[in-house]
Amino acid sequence: MGFETRAVHAGHGNDPQTGAISFPIYQTSTFSQEIPGAPRLFQDRELSYGRSENPIRTALENAVAELEGADYGIAFSSGLAAINAVIQLLNSGDHVIAVRDLYGGAYRQFTKVHAKFGIEFSFVDGTDISEIEEAIRPETALIWLETPSNPLLNITDIKAVVELAEVSQVKVLVDNTFATPFLQQPLSLGADLVLHSTTKYINGHSDVVNGIVVTHDKQLWRDLKFLQNAVGAIPGPQDCFLVLRGLKTLGLRMRQHCANAEGIAKWLQAHPGVGRVYFPGLDVHPGHELASKQMSGYGAMVSFELDAGLDKVFSLLQELKLFTLAESLGGVKSLICHPPTMTHASMDQAARHAAGISDGLIRLSAGIENVEDLIADLDRTFKRVLHTAPVLSTNGGPS
Ligand code: PLP
Repeated sequence: MGFETRAVHAGHGNDPQTGAISFPIYQTSTFSQEIPGAPRLFQDRELSYGRSENPIRTALENAVAELEGADYGIAFSSGLAAINAVIQLLNSGDHVIAVRDLYGGAYRQFTKVHAKFGIEFSFVDGTDISEIEEAIRPETALIWLETPSNPLLNITDIKAVVELAEVSQVKVLVDNTFATPFLQQPLSLGADLVLHSTTKYINGHSDVVNGIVVTHDKQLWRDLKFLQNAVGAIPGPQDCFLVLRGLKTLGLRMRQHCANAEGIAKWLQAHPGVGRVYFPGLDVHPGHELASKQMSGYGAMVSFELDAGLDKVFSLLQELKLFTLAESLGGVKSLICHPPTMTHASMDQAARHAAGISDGLIRLSAGIENVEDLIADLDRTFKRVLHTAPVLSTNGGPS
């Protein structure tokens, strides 16, 4: 069956009791038991307490797992909570290799939270397989990939990393937030775990914070399920409902997101005031060929540098009308941000520069609006900002 069909039907059928075609929200913190210690079953899950199980959470977990080609899913209250659970699978003394260009909040959690408990992290260039190979040590337990990466849209060869990892019996996780299962299925390339900030494209409407991990590996699932309950960073039923609803239109939205991003990237590339444009769909992008092989589209995130000072960068961000200056991505509404002061402010300047994130970098998330309107907004604002006196002020802090 095609992706769009699976997205509509994945994870649940109609409600057997009422025939409701949308999955019911059981807004409850606990479930009654007829016999002490013998909870009711829902899809083989024991309904005892809302932290341990909730039917709509199970439906969401099954739906995302199905679209990623996984057997199991485990949902969390945010993408960062999902990241935390995966790292908590490890033991003190374990070593993790992560791509250098990754979501700033993941970098902050690795270096400021988990490092305190004796887990070591090495950050490498994910586009250089030999750098990953050289970083593997006897204590290496996990390789953490983000491809396309945030914010530079670097592409890592998942299959090549999996081959390396298998030799050393190291697990591989892919943060698939930017690609979504519509464009890329890392488990089919041999990855052990796939993680999403479902806050982004999977929910798609910028109204929920949520995360998920999926896997084929029953033991990993059991261990993550234990952490989900033991640590307790679970999503509420209303949030699961919204993410499950968003998931149904993922294919439709992604087509429009991707087409819009491609139009915008080409327009930016042709603009004399723009320096480097980062978009894997452009044939000048170093990961273009690999992305064409590994993904079925190039995603909808575009980063670029203006050939102008930071004052003009800030003016541009503040004056656009259809692109909202905000953190996050993947919603129907186009967003734009300045990673160094926003999404990646939790990386210090040296780490950002080492990752190739320049002080003037701009990242945009193409929404599903009419692409001509989006380009007209950029065109109008570029003309105004690049030819008029700038207004310098900062907006927002790190999330
Ligand atoms: N992974 C990626 C690639 C992200 O961009 C983000 C957030 O922007 C996260 C994980 C964290 O997700 P959340 O904001 O849902 O905690």
